[in-house]
Amino acid sequence: MRAQGIETVRRILCVFPRYTSSFGTFEYSYPLTDGVQAFMPPQGLLLIAAYLPENWPVRFIDENIRPASKEDFEWAEAVFVSGMHIQRQQMNDICRRAHAFDLPVAIGGPSVSACPDYYPSFDYLHVGELGDATDDLLAWLARDPSRPAQQVVLKTNDRVAMTDFPIPAYELAEVKKYFLGSIQYSSGCPYQCEFCDIPGLYGRNPRLKTPQQIIAELDRLLECGVTGSVYFVDDNFIGNRKAALDLLPHLIEWQKKTGYVMRLACEATLNIAKRPEILEKMREAYFITIFCGIETPDPDALKAMQKDHNMMVPILEGVRTINSYGMEVVSGIIMGLDTDKPETGDALLAFVDQSNIPLLTINLLQALPKTPLWDRLEKENRLIEDDSRDSNVDFLLPYDQVVDSWKKCMEVAFEPEKLYARYQHQVEFTYANRLKVPVTPEQKTWANIKRGLTMLRNIFWKIGVLGDYRRVFWKFALQRLRHGDIEDLISVALVAHHLITYARLASVGHHNASNYSIRLREAAVPAE
Ligand code: SF4
Repeated sequence: MRAQGIETVRRILCVFPRYTSSFGTFEYSYPLTDGVQAFMPPQGLLLIAAYLPENWPVRFIDENIRPASKEDFEWAEAVFVSGMHIQRQQMNDICRRAHAFDLPVAIGGPSVSACPDYYPSFDYLHVGELGDATDDLLAWLARDPSRPAQQVVLKTNDRVAMTDFPIPAYELAEVKKYFLGSIQYSSGCPYQCEFCDIPGLYGRNPRLKTPQQIIAELDRLLECGVTGSVYFVDDNFIGNRKAALDLLPHLIEWQKKTGYVMRLACEATLNIAKRPEILEKMREAYFITIFCGIETPDPDALKAMQKDHNMMVPILEGVRTINSYGMEVVSGIIMGLDTDKPETGDALLAFVDQSNIPLLTINLLQALPKTPLWDRLEKENRLIEDDSRDSNVDFLLPYDQVVDSWKKCMEVAFEPEKLYARYQHQVEFTYANRLKVPVTPEQKTWANIKRGLTMLRNIFWKIGVLGDYRRVFWKFALQRLRHGDIEDLISVALVAHHLITYARLASVGHHNASNYSIRLREAAVPAE
């Protein structure tokens, strides 16, 4: 569905801001690829682009790929921006540049929806999801494309049902320049973890698209050239278990029809380990990765943050169960919790070894607006506004002790020997359990072979010859080569290189200790 009933034509420039350097965006892998420049196509802005009236010309620029140019701003009659808190400064920078051309600028997305007061310079604030606020915004612009005298705040009260969402305008994005493809089936999560803003922003009763919409989106992604990995950005893929079970047979059928052209990944709660009927179907649909917010191996801490559902199965057993269905677990970890003790870092490192999870995003606790954590810390007078810190939380342990412990965990967990040993474990105990899929015609095309050879050349040269951990790399790589397993060799080498590089820099203080922190250190870099 598109916006209806608007006659006047407006040219809209949609600009997605640069990400601040972050553990979860894999940027240190990009130079090893055949031209990847950004992480995932942004669902929200591409959705808005698809919703605009059919006769409105639209340009989409992801500033992670290239900055919006003078010509883009001169072409446009209005600019739309969307992003997360971590992109706050970059969004304000886009607004400043658009205003230099006297263009009205509208901002939507999760950050402004949670914190409208972060964005005083924007002309229009679009608070909430696609809905009546979107229609009001388009009507305003159709009536008058000049900048309003005062900021206009539009709030969505009546959301567009996800079953009426148009297919995001993937065709506007240069999809081949992204590390991963992205797709969304549901929004919202039934749980209420203390630190999380998802239930507050998107509700506890997940809203859904239909399986037919998802299949149409996969077809579109494929037409646009996406092959490889596609990430379901749903807050919790099993937030509505019945819906997941409804979708999976369609995904299985689609994968069979297209020759398993996509490797799928998603986010889900760890209690998915209690659902073999879902895991089996995910295996058949060729899901190969699940991001689980394990947060901490400490049961007391899980209880305190209202994440008891992580204890429905013992954590290590849950991880092993998921692995037994051929899916690697990626884990979110939080340090700086009120329950942390001086020995928490060591316990975490022991958990990393025992779980054999290669990729863990280890963050310092950050209180986000619209969360129970924020409300509690505000009452306790423990929120700190200081851009030189890596967290806005006044920890119970001394700040320096928490940050040092985080640095040590990053340094040790991602030592090349340890990381590659965990990947070797995954090869033997996870990847071996994946569905055996046929070699697809797509994989046999010259373009794909050339792509693989380009990445292998880069990996062999930059890691195997020039890299200071080449001995560890070759031990793993030679085994994979002997088994003819080029795909896992490439994917492990790419991700591992990012993790090793990022963790080394983080452990000497060059990166933020929270992917949610908006510490000014790097975020101040403008796009051009
Ligand atoms: S389970 Fe995940 S998405 Fe749901 S509230 Fe907890 S952290 Fe947020």
